[in-house]
Amino acid sequence: MPTNDALAVYRRKRDFSRTTEPTGSKADRVSDEPTFVVQIHDASTLHFDFRLEVDGVLKSWAVPKGPSDDPHDKRLAMPTEDHPMEYADFEGVIAEGEYGAGTVIVWDEGTYRSLATDRHGREIPFDQALEAGHASFRLHGRKLHGAYALTRIRRGGQREAWLLVKHDDARTSHHGTPHPSRARSAHTGRTLGQVSAQERTGGKDERG
Ligand code: MN
Repeated sequence: MPTNDALAVYRRKRDFSRTTEPTGSKADRVSDEPTFVVQIHDASTLHFDFRLEVDGVLKSWAVPKGPSDDPHDKRLAMPTEDHPMEYADFEGVIAEGEYGAGTVIVWDEGTYRSLATDRHGREIPFDQALEAGHASFRLHGRKLHGAYALTRIRRGGQREAWLLVKHDDARTSHHGTPHPSRARSAHTGRTLGQVSAQERTGGKDERG
């Protein structure tokens, strides 16, 4: 779990009678391996959010084109603020005028295993690898499988940039990434458009 302070800040910023975003009050997840989640976020620009559990929070990157299972694709990943663990389950519409306003679906979720090593091939803690600017990991998701790496290619505060790249391993399938507008939620099978339409009409889940 993150420190109480980390969650207190998240909660202070939100009125949970008004937003459907998570409160960050759930207990620890029952998993030996850390969580990952990929959300699709139809904000001012349509993008993917790639999040890895590290030390009780979700380390986050906005990935404009989304993760690819093709090792030839080098996907730009721009770091964003840490999110609470409960955000991994968030799917819905962030109200207009709010930070990140727009529709969010959970595109993929699962666990990952650190493959982080130093330059001599010795295992190192995952947070240390991220700090050093290069971390490999194996994803066990519903859609994404196999080894990926995040590599920092540019420093400089707001301009910091990373690349998310698939390792050329047995799980390579060269499918690329589906178009985000047609992609479906790993939770509910809904598209962004369906989630948005259902919240707009206040309707229940009526997919068939
Ligand atoms: Mn986002």
